[in-house]
Amino acid sequence: MTDQAYRDLRQWLGHLSASDRLALAKPGLALRHEVAALAKRLENESAVLFPSPDQHAVPVVANLLADRGWIAESLGVPEDQLVARYQQAVREPLAWTEVGFGPVHDVVHRDVDIIRQLPVPTHNELDSGPYIAAGLMIARNPETGVQNVSIHRCQISGKDRIGVLLLPRHTFEYSEMAARRGEALEIAIVIGIDPASLLASQAIVPLDFDEMAIAGALHGAPVEMVKCQTNSVRVPARAEIVLEGRILQNEKAPEGPFGEFPQYYGARAERHVIQVDAICHRERPIFHTIVGGGTEHLLLGGLPREATLLDTLQRSFSCVRNVHLSLGGVCRYHLVVQVERPQPGQAKNVMMGAFAGHYDVKQVIVVDGDVDIYNADEVAWAVATRFQADRDLVVVAGSQGSKLDPTTEGGVGAKMGMDATVPPDADEFAFTRIRVPGADELDPASVVESDGAAAVADIIGEDG
Ligand code: MN
Repeated sequence: MTDQAYRDLRQWLGHLSASDRLALAKPGLALRHEVAALAKRLENESAVLFPSPDQHAVPVVANLLADRGWIAESLGVPEDQLVARYQQAVREPLAWTEVGFGPVHDVVHRDVDIIRQLPVPTHNELDSGPYIAAGLMIARNPETGVQNVSIHRCQISGKDRIGVLLLPRHTFEYSEMAARRGEALEIAIVIGIDPASLLASQAIVPLDFDEMAIAGALHGAPVEMVKCQTNSVRVPARAEIVLEGRILQNEKAPEGPFGEFPQYYGARAERHVIQVDAICHRERPIFHTIVGGGTEHLLLGGLPREATLLDTLQRSFSCVRNVHLSLGGVCRYHLVVQVERPQPGQAKNVMMGAFAGHYDVKQVIVVDGDVDIYNADEVAWAVATRFQADRDLVVVAGSQGSKLDPTTEGGVGAKMGMDATVPPDADEFAFTRIRVPGADELDPASVVESDGAAAVADIIGEDG
């Protein structure tokens, strides 16, 4: 195992293949649903490479990350150091460097025809059509040139047109800044990149914090970036594919539906439009896709948000040990916070800190240090035995939430916090967890007969 992240998509795919975790699909699977169907079936066990989908010259790959262990592996660290490694990369980011040429510019199409040039799959049943679902969108602050990296769903709306959902975060803010200057916002959509860069894009960091510097720190070396052919955005030189374009200011068009991480469809509505000016790619590029709402989609959102929310909480609360965004909470909405000996009332302050950390966080459960926060049954047990609703429940009405949560009114909804810690003044014996001495330490093989069938027969009799 290395102590650094895999540097590009091909290096990571090579590693998966060498360890028998990259399935090769038969050639010619359909881009409409069939590619996503196989990816979905194998999402918890294997990456999949699709040669010539629909006879397209460019192959598709899916399922780069199948579980938390794969994420750790992709960053070159043991799983128990994953959160710490990511936190360190956010605290000590490493700025990218610019190079004069990158393989991503091997081939440049100025005459753009997205569907002819790229194999864009259609994923879920009611999706409006083909979507670029795994593209890093890089945008520049129109005043300072500082770059932002994020992932947005990108509907193919025409030969050179993309419909895009911009939630109220950083790309949206840059687009508003550009609008005030009467300009389109220059952007690039980067497809086919290493896991570290994908994970870096999901950090919860302030506006004007270039997420690519997190990728640099995870790599242990600055990411090499190259200037786009038709605008001033800088993109990873070793990416497989880049679409260069502009978010238009005076045009909106229908986008959606699209199957999203909450396991529901993001609705069809008038949204931002991207004019694509060029498509650049390597010789023989590989197109990465993510099945909307699938394991890869959820996992990519989880770990980076956990690490950065943990940092935010630890800045205010020394009692906070760890956090987890559960899979059932779609790796975004439900947060478990583990604390050690909180001050009286502090668990509720921790909840409010977590709600403030990201608007997606909708439910916070605070538990003690003896609860395994990665085990949903343990968390439920803590709520069952340490929580009383009249005393330990916090509800905040009418706050900003996730627009993709169908129970909100246009993104406005409630927050719920549950303090499932043992009260500081509680009777110690009443909250002493039962345990059988020796059960955890015992090696059963040392005290179980390896072949006991004859002796068992002797004990139970042979009539039955
Ligand atoms: Mn950002």
